[in-house]
This record gives sequence, C-alpha cells and structure tokens, in this order.
Amino acid sequence: MSTESIIDLRSDTVTKPTPEMRSAMANAEVGDDVYSEDPTINKLEARAAEIFGREASIFVPTGSMGNQIALRLHTQPGKEVVCESRAHVMDWEMGMAAMFSGCQLRTVAGQRGILRWKDIEPALATTGLYYKAQTGLIWVENTHNMAGGTVTPLSVMREVRDGAHDRGLPIHLDGARIFNAAAALETDVATLTEGYDSVNFCLSKGLCAPVGSLLVGTAEFIRQARMVRKALGGGMRQAGILAAAGLIALEEMPKRLHEDHATAKQLAQALAKIEGITINPADVETNIVIFTTTFDAPGYVAALKRRGVLASALSTHSVRLVTHRDVDAAACLRAGEILSTVALDTFAAA
Ligand SMILES: *Cc1c(COP(=O)(O)O)cnc(C)c1O
Repeated sequence: MSTESIIDLRSDTVTKPTPEMRSAMANAEVGDDVYSEDPTINKLEARAAEIFGREASIFVPTGSMGNQIALRLHTQPGKEVVCESRAHVMDWEMGMAAMFSGCQLRTVAGQRGILRWKDIEPALATTGLYYKAQTGLIWVENTHNMAGGTVTPLSVMREVRDGAHDRGLPIHLDGARIFNAAAALETDVATLTEGYDSVNFCLSKGLCAPVGSLLVGTAEFIRQARMVRKALGGGMRQAGILAAAGLIALEEMPKRLHEDHATAKQLAQALAKIEGITINPADVETNIVIFTTTFDAPGYVAALKRRGVLASALSTHSVRLVTHRDVDAAACLRAGEILSTVALDTFAAA
C-alpha cells in the first residue's frame, strides 16, 4: 500500500509541515538562541505572549518539556500536584513529576475529563497539617486528550482558577490543544486562559508545525523557565528554522481547526451505526474520537492497518481516532467505510 493511500488517524502529531512552512523554514533568519540572538525565535515568543495576553513565552522542543518546566517552577519537592485521573502529565510524561521535581500527583476523576472545583477541593491538603503532603499546584488539561478531546468550558476554567487562587495555589494549564478548545467554544485563547499562572500549548499537533511547544507566563516565570530549559538540555541554537514553521502554525492554523472537528463528528456518526461499537457522537466536541468495542480492540486496529487505516488501541476494548489537516472529509468518509467493513469481519470472527 502506498503511503498516500494510508489514512493516518493515530494522532494529530502525524501532520506534516505545510508547503508554506517548508518555504518559511528554508528562508528563516536565524541566530544562536542560547544567546537570545535568533530573530525568528524572538518573534515567535513575542507573538505567543501577545496572543495569550501574557508578558512572555518560551519555545520548547516538546509539550512534555514545557509542562515539566512549569511543574518544577511552581512546586517544591514533597508537594502534591492535583490533576485529572487520565491527565497527560500522569500517563505520558514518564513519571517526571517525581523524577525531576520530587512531587507526587494526586489524581481526581473528572466528568469526561473535566474537573470542577467541587471535585478538586476535597483532594486539597492546604491546612498546614504537618503530617500530610501539602498541595503545591492545580493542573488542568483542556482539551482533555484521553477523555476524548473534551472541552472545559469558560465558566469552569474560571471557577477552577478562582478556587485555586483563593486557596493561594498556582494553577497550570496543559493546553496542548487549547486552540481546539477555543475553536469549539468560539472564543480566543487569551480569554479562555486568563489568569492561569502558566499555559503550555503545542505547535506540533493539529497546528501542523514539525516540532515545538510554547510555555507562556509572567516575564519572571519565563526568565526562570529559560534556566530550567537549559538544565534539561533544551537550549537550542539556530532554532529559528523551527520557529518559522511555528509562526505559521500560530497565526494561520487555528483558523481551520473547526474542519477537524467536523470530520471527527462525521467519523463518530459513522461509528455509531456499527454493530459492536459504542460511541455517542454528541460527546465528540473537537478532533478526538474515542469509542469502545465489544470485540478485541488491538485485533481490530491491526485489521484496520491492513486495510490502510491507522488507529490507536487505548485498551483491550477502546480505540482512539484523531482527525487533522492531512485527512480531509473524503478520506474520513473512506475511513468510516473501512471501519465498518473491518468491524463486521472482526465481529463475525469473534
Ligand atoms: C501531546 C500532549 C502533550 C505534550 O506532548 P509532547 O509529545 O511532549 O509534545 C501534553 N499534554 C497533552 C494533553 C498532550 O496531548
């Protein structure tokens, strides 16, 4: 099977840089960013700060690094970080909260990944009881990846932020896909993330940049973040090559995310008709589609792959599909048909 006919729905990280990005990369003005002399990096960081209504931002190679820099700066060893049960920081960041910051995660199950203040408050330890690990940080993920791209609405974003600040706690937003949340809510990221002490977001997912994330915050927070990034080996040199693509990701790509949300919804509607698959299309708010199967999910995913559709098995009976710029509506329609045929075969065999 040729690579062109493969429909890759494993993740939005598989997006390739656009032709405009490639040409901007080829022509990028660059310098040594460890000396703060890369004009394209400086421009990207200034624009990200402006778009989020913050004082400063820092370009980091990955969202994981941005998150872990924030976690380190907001906490001290022995503290607890309150996050959602299936948060990326819990499941996919290699235990770095413990390894790098000496913290433990106190997880709380949200409603479809969404944490309300009433969910968080009972998990806090801020009373000063000397024999309990004290809460050091509140952690929000919007959209929530493993809950299926669910969106925390503006009112809840504010309620949780105010709850944290009333208790004297900093709050970090893992906004890897915050532009998807903003698109779904028809708001802007500055409004949606207002008052959060730090926000991390990815350029390398649905925004199609080849590499990179940005961490935004106060000027002092970002000054310190530069030291932690360097300590982690994240001091890059002529990184303007990447920032040139990142600028296009930041300025142009958020505008088209509603297309990915529409194709995800279309896939969910096709899936809802398939015997052996359970999904409520109304639950699909952004570009992530998670469904459960009565049959063996890894076997199904393997069979799909043989038919040219790439998906991710999340467990023995659940599968994730993520839509993005490199799979258009026609490709998603074709994927829906293949998902149906293969399910019939798998179901019959089971
Ligand atoms: C992808 C992702 C990250 C960061 O991932 P990297 O692969 O390290 O860039 C962080 N949080 C969430 C919710 C993500 O989906």
